Amino acid sequence: MEEFLEHFKERTRSEQRWLCEVFEGVRQQLYPLISSSVGLSVEQLTLSVLSKVQRAAGSEVASLPVSYRFVSLSELTRQQHTPCCSSLTWSSAQYREQARRALPNYRALARDNILLMGYLYDGPAAGASDGGWWVRDAGGAVSCRNAPAGGGYLELIDPPVCVTPEAMTFDPGGSLTEAMSVKRAAELLKQRCDAQVCVSGQVSVISPLLLISGRRFFCLILSEGDSAAPVLITEGKHQYWRQCVCVGQYICISAMRVCSLRGWAGHHVLSVTAQSRLHPHVQTQESSEDPEKHLMDTDSHAPDTHMTSHTASCSTTSVRKKHSTLISYKGLITKVLHAEAGLYEIDGKVGLCLAYQPLQERGGGLRPGAEIQLHNVHFLYRPSPFAPDVVLCACLCSSAQVTAFSPLSSKVEVCGSHSPLQRHLLEKNLGVSQYLWLCYCQRVITERLCPRWVREERVCVVAGRLLDCVCDAEQKTDRKRDIYREMLQEPHQCPVTTYCVSWPCVVLWSVRHLCDWMSSEVWSSLSLSSLVSPAAAHMTCAELNACLSWSVHSVRLTAAHSQPLMLVGVLELSSTHATLQIKDQTQTLDCVCVQTDQSGATTNSNISTAWLGKPMTSLLCCLVCVQRCTLVMERLMKTNFPSWKHLDQPNYITHKHCRLYLQFCVSDLIIISPSAAMSISLMEKKRDQTDGREADQKRDRRDEGDDDPLRSACVSLVFRLNSKQGVMFRNTSVSADAHTLQMGFTATVSCLGDVQLWNNDPKNRRIQTSETDGRETTVRHLHYTVSLLYSGFYSASVCVLQMDLHFGDVCVRWFPLLHPGSVYRLIAHNTEDVSVLKAESISARGGVKLLSNPALLMKHQWRLHTLTHMEQLLDTQSDVGAVMSVSKVLHSSSTSEIVSFYGVISQRITLQEEMGTKPSIQSVTATKDSSVVEEGLKIRLTVQDSESAGHMIQVYVDLSCGPYTPGLLQGATVILQDFHRKVSKACNVYCRSLPISCVSVTGLGSVSSGSGGSQSPPPMMLLGEWASGRTQQCIVGQVKGHIVCVLSLRLQWMCSLCGSTFRQGSCSRGQPPCDSSCGVFQAEAKVAVEDGSGEALVWFSSDTVSELLMLDVGQWEGLQRHVRVKGHVRVYTRGHSMMCDVDPEEPLVQFLCCLCSSNTVCRQIKLTCRLRAQRTGKCQLRKVCRGPTEFISKFPPAPQLQCLEIQTDTH
Ligand SMILES: [Zn+2]
Ligand SMILES: [Zn+2]
Repeated sequence: MEEFLEHFKERTRSEQRWLCEVFEGVRQQLYPLISSSVGLSVEQLTLSVLSKVQRAAGSEVASLPVSYRFVSLSELTRQQHTPCCSSLTWSSAQYREQARRALPNYRALARDNILLMGYLYDGPAAGASDGGWWVRDAGGAVSCRNAPAGGGYLELIDPPVCVTPEAMTFDPGGSLTEAMSVKRAAELLKQRCDAQVCVSGQVSVISPLLLISGRRFFCLILSEGDSAAPVLITEGKHQYWRQCVCVGQYICISAMRVCSLRGWAGHHVLSVTAQSRLHPHVQTQESSEDPEKHLMDTDSHAPDTHMTSHTASCSTTSVRKKHSTLISYKGLITKVLHAEAGLYEIDGKVGLCLAYQPLQERGGGLRPGAEIQLHNVHFLYRPSPFAPDVVLCACLCSSAQVTAFSPLSSKVEVCGSHSPLQRHLLEKNLGVSQYLWLCYCQRVITERLCPRWVREERVCVVAGRLLDCVCDAEQKTDRKRDIYREMLQEPHQCPVTTYCVSWPCVVLWSVRHLCDWMSSEVWSSLSLSSLVSPAAAHMTCAELNACLSWSVHSVRLTAAHSQPLMLVGVLELSSTHATLQIKDQTQTLDCVCVQTDQSGATTNSNISTAWLGKPMTSLLCCLVCVQRCTLVMERLMKTNFPSWKHLDQPNYITHKHCRLYLQFCVSDLIIISPSAAMSISLMEKKRDQTDGREADQKRDRRDEGDDDPLRSACVSLVFRLNSKQGVMFRNTSVSADAHTLQMGFTATVSCLGDVQLWNNDPKNRRIQTSETDGRETTVRHLHYTVSLLYSGFYSASVCVLQMDLHFGDVCVRWFPLLHPGSVYRLIAHNTEDVSVLKAESISARGGVKLLSNPALLMKHQWRLHTLTHMEQLLDTQSDVGAVMSVSKVLHSSSTSEIVSFYGVISQRITLQEEMGTKPSIQSVTATKDSSVVEEGLKIRLTVQDSESAGHMIQVYVDLSCGPYTPGLLQGATVILQDFHRKVSKACNVYCRSLPISCVSVTGLGSVSSGSGGSQSPPPMMLLGEWASGRTQQCIVGQVKGHIVCVLSLRLQWMCSLCGSTFRQGSCSRGQPPCDSSCGVFQAEAKVAVEDGSGEALVWFSSDTVSELLMLDVGQWEGLQRHVRVKGHVRVYTRGHSMMCDVDPEEPLVQFLCCLCSSNTVCRQIKLTCRLRAQRTGKCQLRKVCRGPTEFISKFPPAPQLQCLEIQTDTH
């Protein structure tokens, strides 16, 4: 050291201190690695270092770069935690120049002055060549390309300064005299040749470094004109050549052998030997073109002109396929789109996909701000809607090289091993369009479902399954990648050669996005005038506003967006709405789920508990995807429009509120990842199909529990649901003077056996024989048995088979999963006490036994499991409360007062509010907004018999005593349970809901948001038949007959508000006076119609009267104007002529009398009519003349009909 410092006596103390540090560094870090053959001392080496550093710094010889501190590699990796940039040669101006290149959102790299000394190696240690550069000193090694295991790496922005004497510089050695041209080499490759050859030519293709079964190698192709010679570099010590050559360069490689490739049959390649040398540029001819000229800019690319677009004929979907072209490109990385997926953005608009290259090529250097040069990359135009329009995709013949490192302090995003995305790409041989969709899907799932429902390591598996859902099998590229062909063969063939244009294009909306779309769609689609029928012109204020108070808009999911949509989420039960919901991490949306599209009363396999996870935690639920569903948007409004003329003034809407939900069938749910219970269910179904019968129950018993690490005792009870009541609000007293409202409902069940004790949760596993207590499956039998003894523990206690299960508070969430006729297993966890599931008899007072069933209160920690495999074993018709058809309810004389029936909703009407009746119970769950509109909501449903369209019944439903029931829409099939059957004064049968009533939607109507009748037309009826009442009378039917005469016609103007006569523009009411200025015109006609078999009285109301009288719009309006003067006019038939009580001479009266008896009105006509009263009165005796003879015959009374519609085509 002293000896060394002798040379620098004149230096200052600080300079001497710096020199000491350099000397120590060389001694400790550099010298130990130097080979003894060089024969240098530490002092000599240090002096050599100093002179090179001074020269490189370019400073005057006198000064030393003391501001640069010397650090060893171990110090560097230990202490340098932030990225920085250091250059010995740069001036401050150069740093500033670098900083100016900054991209938005990025700062320039911090400047630091660091001096690193070491050896440049092609691997982390001697003999461990990996084809990349490493800097080593005595204490460690740092990669110049990738960040190994989270550490940093070096980006060499300037060429390193060689500090050893010239003798150490690179000398390839060997003679080049025998170098042959590529043309000759190509000919040589056609035959076998054992001699070693030396070939010179221009590099046209460089493959990435590949590591296949432990062997590292790469390929390059030397070209000359049309000839090409592939070269395989497999020698470990030559792997660093990959860093030294670039496309376009002229090189010469010596000592190569011709060999055949096992993986590329029938082809010969040149293979590098251990003796081979790589020589740069020996070509003298200047004629060949500059490779830089190949570089293209996407701006000059008119995408559709140079693309050889050829549309592959795809039978099922119109997926357009295109050929990509190979280009070279140079640009600046502006964004890392998805590091794990190998997706980058260049120049702010071009996408770069490196996923088809092996991973070690990526990572280091590919930071925003870096300049990158790409050769032989595929140019793709619009391969996916989820990537930039132009995507450059690198494959095994492409080379991507960072030509200038980023001066920006951008984050290094490197992934250690193969990412799951890339593994999926390789395993499934995905095309680039599919891969880009997979990356989109992976990102979306990570955002919305990870980590709550999908673990991070499972995201890619889930994304892969979703990709399977959107791709048909035939659209998948199942051709395995052939790496040699991909790298070497001409013309080039690889998975990126063809690609799909903008496909798959399925968009995944989050639940929130869907809700937002529906919330805006529900009101933007609102058109008040289209909500009201043509009859609106004749409606009073109250009728009109009732008509507007509810409407529905439904859209298929496929129609909500220009691109196909898909929803991914989990199903959950809501304890506040008692509905099924779909949710992701963004939001929750209610669902109505049915078994099938088709209407039908018996639904065997409805949505089961297996779809749901653990309640309240929603862990382990089924992840589902929905592509087919209906978005339903119900609008509830409070309006006070005076008449239909004011419909264009939205200020008459005082409150509005909407109900948004989805409707789908169980069969439309695609399971992406099943819940534990669903796995059991699927497994058992599979076993049934293979083994036939439920054979091995013993084996079943053995393997269960293996999947459940938390073994704990539990007790269970198997029962079948007979019926369930509707959910309703109940007053519950919390304390003496505080009452709260709680939701609750009761289900009546039949126990199929005794309470069982388990040492492990049986979940929804196949039923054990002990559970049904050896009574096999003759379940019906059980109900006649009065009592049954508990086996074992409680042999003394009595179990009554039928019991009431009470669901209160949060347990109401089970409501949507309970279907009459289904079998369930009720489980109480963490207990060995079988008495917890014992129903208690209602205490009998004074020796009086109550008729109600014993009751059991469902606890919130108990679980229910649907036992789906039980369905085929049970005779569903047996006990599940007799569900009748509509016609049976209408006509049966012996039906009990409380009925359950099913049918199709043909109309839904909101009932007008009865003044002054406030609902006694207000919805606890209603939001502030909805409470105004939904409180006291009562509706009338017209329910049609699902088999015969002519039978229908009016059902009055009070929706205010429970949570809102979604899905009560026109066309929906419903089961109405426990409704009160009543008969009106006119003998019309109708039903009213009771607090225990329950409406369940079992079938969905077709989506036609209008009032379009997709239902079958009512049957043709003969009047004689209708009158006789012999057959079960239709309520609605079609009649074809002749108008005998108009019995009466009443035309009047009515006050829209109070209903008094409206005369000359004002209301005629005097006590108290009415200041309404709004009148509506109403008309009513009573007509006698006969069809040969009999006669009927038919009533026509306002809008059908003009059609009856065959008046056009102008004539009808003129008539209204004439009536306006007096307010009303009535003509009627007396004897054979028409007359009027007042002013019979008036022209209007005379016109009406004349019109009504004219042949224009008395004509053949075809009508759709509804029976006004189902009462059949007494038969009449009438004289009938036939020739000279007179008979007295018995005639049934003429039926009274209301005309609903006049069919215009009467001929
Ligand atoms: Zn390719
Ligand atoms: Zn009035």
